[in-house]
Amino acid sequence: RDTVEIVGINIDKVTFEEAEDRLLDFLRQDETKMIFTPNSEFLVDAVKDRDFSEILNDGDLVIPDGIGLVIASKFYGMPLKEKVAGCELMTKLIEIAYSEKKSIYFLGGKEGVAEEASQRLNDKYPGIKIAGFHNGYFDEEEEKNIIDDIIQKRPDIIFVALGAPKQEKWIYNNRHRLGAKIAMGVGGSLDILAG
Ligand code: UDP
Repeated sequence: RDTVEIVGINIDKVTFEEAEDRLLDFLRQDETKMIFTPNSEFLVDAVKDRDFSEILNDGDLVIPDGIGLVIASKFYGMPLKEKVAGCELMTKLIEIAYSEKKSIYFLGGKEGVAEEASQRLNDKYPGIKIAGFHNGYFDEEEEKNIIDDIIQKRPDIIFVALGAPKQEKWIYNNRHRLGAKIAMGVGGSLDILAG
């Protein structure tokens, strides 16, 4: 992997197309691949939170989701190729899921947001496989049920919108039991998808 280190976090030196190729590759593999989308705020948090920085460095695809990272990389003399927006990569992954008949699960957002996003996708991509969804406000007890639900529904792709660093920690802590090919932290992109 060709990466650039910024304040201790390794960011993939990829164009949008190269990131897309990685998604296709991940879908052909067995273990759950983690996609993270750091911007400058993530890095400010990661510097203060060692768990968060280690988790980001365990990501399988870590895209520069902000022009600040691209500028910083030039400053360090190891330029990233371009900004790769998490929201756009999420949209691309949804298109891939649709054409490859892979199933999607949405976890996160306020009550009704994940459902609205699912509905909109179904209108845009008739027959798209939405395995399930759940809002992002739950206690420990509910979390067990959510994980059981995900395990039972076997989605290929899980989009997690709990805000950073909560979503990255959730993905990291659960990656071995989800059974998915891809888990991606998407933050506010889920709200955008829901409109
Ligand atoms: N969110 C959630 N549960 C939480 C905290 C946040 O589901 O405990 C959702 C929130 O509703 C929003 C998304 O996570 O849809 C992104 O939140 P935030 O704006 O904090 O994150 P950012 O996009 O700035 O990383």
